[in-house]
Parts: sequence; structure tokens; C-alpha cells
Amino acid sequence: MTKPEKIILGYRCIACGGTSGAGEMRYQCMHCGGNLEILYDYEKIAGEISKAKLARNRDYSIFRYAPLLPIREGGTRPALLVGFTPLSRARTLGGKYGLTRVYVKDDGRNPSASAKDRASAVVLAHALETGQKLITCASTGNAASSIACLTAPLGIKTVLFVPASAPRAKIAQLLVFGAEVIAVEGSYDQAYELSRLATEEYGWYSRNTGFNPYTREGKKTVSYEICEQLGWESPQAVFVPVGDGNMLSGVWKGFRDLYEIGFIRSLPRLLACQACGSNAVKRALESGGRFTPVSGKTIADSISVQMPRDGLAALKAIQESKGGAICVEDAEIIEAILELARETGVFAEPAGAVPLAALKKAVAEGTVGADECIVLLVSGNGLKDIDAFVNSVGVPLTVPPDFNEVKRILEKRLI
Ligand SMILES: *Cc1c(COP(=O)(O)O)cnc(C)c1O
Ligand SMILES: [Zn+2]
Repeated sequence: MTKPEKIILGYRCIACGGTSGAGEMRYQCMHCGGNLEILYDYEKIAGEISKAKLARNRDYSIFRYAPLLPIREGGTRPALLVGFTPLSRARTLGGKYGLTRVYVKDDGRNPSASAKDRASAVVLAHALETGQKLITCASTGNAASSIACLTAPLGIKTVLFVPASAPRAKIAQLLVFGAEVIAVEGSYDQAYELSRLATEEYGWYSRNTGFNPYTREGKKTVSYEICEQLGWESPQAVFVPVGDGNMLSGVWKGFRDLYEIGFIRSLPRLLACQACGSNAVKRALESGGRFTPVSGKTIADSISVQMPRDGLAALKAIQESKGGAICVEDAEIIEAILELARETGVFAEPAGAVPLAALKKAVAEGTVGADECIVLLVSGNGLKDIDAFVNSVGVPLTVPPDFNEVKRILEKRLI
């Protein structure tokens, strides 16, 4: 028998709790249309994976954790290396806030420069197993540029729906990798709806966040890496940027998986970090779980969402982990981009700096302990969107090609 049938017990609906057996992958719950969660046979997985085996494993990509992934053994994998991004201790940054153990997980160092590659790689492994020829998705930019990048060497076509307002660098990525790009004159939510209709009309394979249950299974790998990089310790708090909520629910799934197979003994609190204009998950948390649309307005385009597509799963992750939600203003995000860059050398796109802005609030509110192990998930690279804040970083000294002029300026400014 092939691996997925062996380790996958079935699917459970996050909304109604209804379960269905393993077999054909399906997108959503047959009963209520809720997003699905993949259920695993942890006993079987625990028999196949061990810390010692991992220590010997030279595959430094998410596929080193293949026994925990819903894909077949020996199947075709994406050619590019996804995952195993650095986890760096940020001593000076932490010290500024009286924290001894702050770590930065730099997921901008993935092939297409965002954490979305984790989801795309697992979705793509599944698409290859099932012989898909065309993949579609809606995206604020990163999910699309990720699938465009990873499919490029495989000859799989992509049709990608993005808001026409997506950052230029992200749209450039799509075009460079040869995707069919549909720029929608509207919001991400409207692009999502169009891609859903196209999927229905043409029977394409959809990578849509949350809708395809494999996206969460890819995103969970970041938690495996964090624990392995910490010597199989679980952090105490993880700050995760949240738009649709799929990344946060994936992070939670990853820690829970490791807990179930006995690799870690405790679980972290998850802090959902949102932009104040796009804080539907935080609002739901504070209003008894009711989701209502928000404007989605923020410079952090990657987390600009009116109605989160995996919000319920994110909400449950926050509650189960005894975590919380924090929202930050755009000005705080810009400040955090610069602070993160200058204190750690990691250049984040706006969404990727939201965890630092949120950590600063958590410190001010006294909700993190000085010696807690804290991880900031930096989800995307800063070069993906410079227009959002380039006006806030000042301008260079401009000089004629004349050393006397250079000296005059330098001596006035620095010496
Ligand atoms: C997609 C994305 C997020 C948020 O993930 P969701 O699953 O939408 O909550 C955060 N940061 C970056 C850079 C992203 O691309
Ligand atoms: Zn259901």
C-alpha cells in the first residue's frame, strides 16, 4: 500500500466536525462546505520517524519530514529546495526588550522568497501524484508567485488570480516564471471568488489557501524545523502573521503533530499578529467566534483579507494553544521593518515584520516572560514590496563624481 493511505486516517471538517475516510482528496466538507483537516495515524508515523534518523538525514528541505506529510513515498517532488530556513537568535533585538531568548525564523529565504513555498511544495507533490496539468489559485501575490516558481521546472501550467493592486515585484515574479496572470480589478476576496468559479467551470486543480487541505500540511513544516533547530524543544510563544489564518493553523498543526508522536513535551502559545485594518480573526476571537468582514486595508498586502479563508482553523489554534491576537497599525509595521533589518539583518516584507511589531505590544502589555523562548515568524522577504515603505527610509547622499565633494559631505555629516 502506498504511504498516504497508510498514514492518513481521513478528513475532519473544521466547522461541523464531520469526518470522512481516506481516499480521494476532497476540497471541502460534503455536509457544510467547511475546510477540512487531514487526520493521521500517529502510531504508524511514530514507527517510521525518529530523532536519530532525522539527525542522519541530509535532505535539508521540508521533505526530510516526509513521514509526517500526506504524500507518497518515492513520488516526484518539486525540484527546488523548500524549507529548512535559518532560525537565528536575535540577542540584541531581544535585549532591547528585556527578553533573553528571541529567535527569528527567516522564511523569506525560500525559493520564491516567502513561506508560501511550504504549502506550494506539498500541494505540488500531491498534484504530481495525481497527474494534474493545470493549477490555479487566487493570491495577494505570494501564494501565486510561489506556485509559479515551483511549477516552472515541471511543465505544469498555472492560471493565477491576483488583485491588480498587488506589489509590482510579486506580479513581476509571476510573469517571469511564465504563469498566466489574471489581474483582477478588485480585492483579494474578489479574486478568490473568480478563481473558485474557474475551478468549478473547468475542473482545474486548485491551490487555494485553506480550500485545499494540503496547504496547511505544507505550512506546518515550519514548526518541525523550529523544534529541530532548537534541539527538539518547543518554544513558549510563536508570533505568526495572519491574513487568511492558514499559516497560523498550519503552525499549530505542526506542533501538535510533534507532540502526538512524542518529539516535544509541551506546546507553545500562538500569537496571531494582524494589521488593524485587516483584523477579522482578532475580532472573531473577541466576539465569541463570529466572523464578520473587515476592510482589509493595510500596507501589509500579504495579510490584507476581508474575510479569512481559514479563519475558523486559526481561531481554534489560538484558543487551543491559549494564545491571543494582537493588531498593529501600518506605521508600527514600517517601524518594525526597519528595526528588524537593523537589529537582525533580516529584511522582511511588511507582513513579515508584523510579528515584531506585535511582540513589542506584548512586551508592553506584559504578556511574554523575560526568559521565555519566543519565535518571530518572518514570512516573506523585503524585496518583494518596497513601494510600501520606501518613502519612510530616507534618501541616499547624492554626489557628483568628485572626491573633494565626497569629502566635503562626509566631513560635514560623519566626522
Ligand atoms: C500568506 C502570507 C501570510 C499570512 O498567511 P495566511 O495563511 O494568509 O494567514 C503572512 N505573511 C506572508 C509574507 C504571506 O505571504
Ligand atoms: Zn462540515
